[in-house]
Amino acid sequence: MSDINLFTAARAKKSLGQHFLRDERVVQRIVDLLLPAEGDQIMEIGPGPGALTALLRPLPWSRLLLLEKDDHYAAEHAARPMPGLEVVAGDALTYPWERLEGPWKIAGNLPYNVASPLMWDIVSRTPNLSRAVFMVQKEVGDRLTARPGSREYGALSVWIQSFVRTRKGFVIGPSAFSPPPKVDSAVVVFEPLPPEHRPVHADSLSRLVKLCFQQRRKQLQGILRRSLPDFSPDVLLRLGMDPAQRPETLSVKQFQQLSETLFPEKIMPERSISLDDGQETCT
Ligand code: SAM
Repeated sequence: MSDINLFTAARAKKSLGQHFLRDERVVQRIVDLLLPAEGDQIMEIGPGPGALTALLRPLPWSRLLLLEKDDHYAAEHAARPMPGLEVVAGDALTYPWERLEGPWKIAGNLPYNVASPLMWDIVSRTPNLSRAVFMVQKEVGDRLTARPGSREYGALSVWIQSFVRTRKGFVIGPSAFSPPPKVDSAVVVFEPLPPEHRPVHADSLSRLVKLCFQQRRKQLQGILRRSLPDFSPDVLLRLGMDPAQRPETLSVKQFQQLSETLFPEKIMPERSISLDDGQETCT
């Protein structure tokens, strides 16, 4: 292990997706993409032994919140207090994102086994996300930035791009980490969309995209007819969509329009579909 960490790394825990950054240039590029500015509130997810934290600590933020599931690392960070620094020992998957008040920038070399559900929650539940920079496995990065019609375009692409503009920062190989993961990694930047571009009924959109991408090779009219007893293909025609279209060809905007037309007030009945989008992957 190189010495870019704040403190010595313990033996990596596979169950927590621990692959620690060992190349300071990579860490610096992540910090630069966060565009740190005076007075920022910054959260780091999974600081581990602190390669990223070491570069975040000297910045002129007003608050730095470290969220770490591994008690050992949470305690190590808590033992190095400074004004405005807060350490939360907990699971990011159950974090109450709604309670983050004011603008927040969020960064992290995410544990790859939980990155997708984590980002799903962060973009939709954080009230005032101002920017996010995440390291994820490259395949997930491809899905986050995928455009309609591509093989990578799926539920995660539509959902995330309903809330933020996504952009790939850079791609790096396994040798930047210790221990090295089996796959390449990508750093992705999220820039929130204005509120008027976000889904009106997020729950309905969530369920619609999961439903559609579980059957991505099927026609829209077939998918919707099977799930919604009152469905008529006229709905699709009125929105300028071809009932024979496959879900993977709909734009993010079209998914939002369809969700709002099908479910103008209430969320889609939950029991009609499974919520497993079947797309999660991990190293
Ligand atoms: N930031 C360090 C770095 O870049 O070297 C560590 C990154 S490592 C890929 C992921 C980190 O997330 C680990 O420290 C791990 O303990 C932590 N972690 C794993 N699952 C977590 C969860 N559900 N909530 C919060 N932290 C988690």
